[in-house]
Amino acid sequence: MVSNQPRGMGRGGRGFLTDEEKANRPKITRALLRRIGSYLRPYWKQMTLVLLSILLSSIFGLLPSILTGRIIDEGLIGQNLDALIWLIVVLLGVILGSSLIGVLESYLNTWIAQHITFDMRNSLYRHLQSMSYRFFTTNKQGDIITRMTSDISSVQQIIANTLTRILSNSITLIVAIVAMYQKNWILATIGIIILPLFTLPTKKVGKTRWTLTREAQDCRDEINGILNETLSVSGQMLVKLFCKEDQEYRRYESFNQRLIRLNIRESMAGRWFRVVLQTFSSIGPMLIYLVGGILMIRYDSDLTVGDVTVLVALLGKMYQPVNSLLNIQVDWIRSMALFTRLFDYFDMPVEIKNAPDAIIPKKAAGRIEFDHVHFSYELSRPILKDVSFTLDSGKSIAIVGPSGSGKSTIINLIPRLYDVIEGSVRFDGIDVRQLDLGFLRDQVGVVTQDTYLFNGSIRDNLLYAKPNATQNELVDACRKANIHDFIASQPEGYDSLVGNRGLKLSGGEKQRISIARVLLKDPAVLIFDEATSSLDSISENMIQEAIDPLITSRTSILIAHRLSTVLAADEILVVKEGQIVERGVHDDLLASGGLYTELYETQFRRALDSTNEG
Ligand code: ATP
Repeated sequence: MVSNQPRGMGRGGRGFLTDEEKANRPKITRALLRRIGSYLRPYWKQMTLVLLSILLSSIFGLLPSILTGRIIDEGLIGQNLDALIWLIVVLLGVILGSSLIGVLESYLNTWIAQHITFDMRNSLYRHLQSMSYRFFTTNKQGDIITRMTSDISSVQQIIANTLTRILSNSITLIVAIVAMYQKNWILATIGIIILPLFTLPTKKVGKTRWTLTREAQDCRDEINGILNETLSVSGQMLVKLFCKEDQEYRRYESFNQRLIRLNIRESMAGRWFRVVLQTFSSIGPMLIYLVGGILMIRYDSDLTVGDVTVLVALLGKMYQPVNSLLNIQVDWIRSMALFTRLFDYFDMPVEIKNAPDAIIPKKAAGRIEFDHVHFSYELSRPILKDVSFTLDSGKSIAIVGPSGSGKSTIINLIPRLYDVIEGSVRFDGIDVRQLDLGFLRDQVGVVTQDTYLFNGSIRDNLLYAKPNATQNELVDACRKANIHDFIASQPEGYDSLVGNRGLKLSGGEKQRISIARVLLKDPAVLIFDEATSSLDSISENMIQEAIDPLITSRTSILIAHRLSTVLAADEILVVKEGQIVERGVHDDLLASGGLYTELYETQFRRALDSTNEG
């Protein structure tokens, strides 16, 4: 049994939709269609060509049936050899022509589908890049990747297959009906009368398949999530250290099993109905032979054997598109659901964006002001409460406080990873929300605890901050960050590869490289989130040596976990439960005997002792 039920699944299953699924069923509105159309519109010329080729190939597809009638009547029954040869040559030409048109059609289809998805993929990627940091902390990475990859690939399928199938089947159907009526209206009507019999079962099948499709998609999302979480570097570390391999395997296997069941059920849905359909479709020709025969034998109609053969052949050609069009309903709903889902992503508002008249100052001094700032990640839970402080240009502030007190949150507000709820954060006297985002982020350099290096060489990682930096600039920054000697000692020097997420390097080395990277950016304000404990005292000292001169030479905010960093700062802010509860310099704070003293006793002094021992 599958124990883990992914969200959105369950009860529904066979044939009827749960409330949630009903709610999620796409509403096919004019606006939705218009929006899909807007992606197709730039390619209207190519689409017209596709339409023409579909029209031609539908006509060419029916011509052999009509020619067969003439071959029978004129060639075989009429015993006219010249006409027979001529008709066979034409038939050959028609078949060849229809194949060539088919090639053109599929080339155009692929071309259009590729171009449309190219546009869509690019604009979605750009949109996702503009999403706020909050979006990435809240949404599952697996979901985001699925939207970008398999969802967009499915759009390609829809355009290349579903849309053309709808068009070509509709055209074939119309052409077949017209051709049948031209031959004989009575037989044509008989053939068409039994058409509604097809629609009865198909609707039901469509519903079942729709439910199954949604369940399978949820299941695939869940599987992607598991893969993303457990096959990532940090995920694997967690799995290995907690010996969760078997548990994760079982979780993966159970979803996988659920997926195959759903896939099998989906592909089997409606097989029984199809048996019924096949029976219906063989009743048609029987009726035509019967009524045709009666007309010819009893009523002396001018119908020929060829005509009856043509009508039966056309009927066969007509049922196939009807069948296909009815089955397409599921593909159609699925496609619309896909577009709806993608458009939902496109419609997610950009939370943090440039103000319409964003200011780009000529120079940056780097003065930071928090003015009665209130902030919360989720509305119900206030994180920062009335935080006010000023950091003058060239000065430094150390923020200390217990874990979870809101230190990282304070610094996240400066480069606008989040916006304040109340109050304001100002940079050089201007509210950060009015500043040009690019300018602001250029002026603020952040070294986080959890340093991210991408898989490439040390040089690539450094150049990310300043693509045109010279070798001298790189060396200079690395010397300041106290990492040059280490890099130089590597066999490949600056071209050494750092491994996935920089894992070939130690925590301290990574952090020093990321300090060098920020130095290359040369920001007006440096924010440094000091690593809590992961480093040994030698690494700590090396980082300390790197950052001490930086603190004194430029405006900086440090989340401090070590006494030496605290002592190097011009002012200390003590944060507790999102509020600044004490502020001042070390000696005064220590003398006052408050939270700072407590932190000093428990955290800084111990760190100091261990450093001295080291
Ligand atoms: P530490 O020293 O452990 O890094 P901190 O003082 O930097 O802690 P913050 O990271 O600012 O603390 O977190 C403050 C509070 O906000 C915590 O209670 C945390 O649970 C919450 N929080 C942090 N990030 C988010 C987020 N993205 N969404 C919701 N809540 C969050």
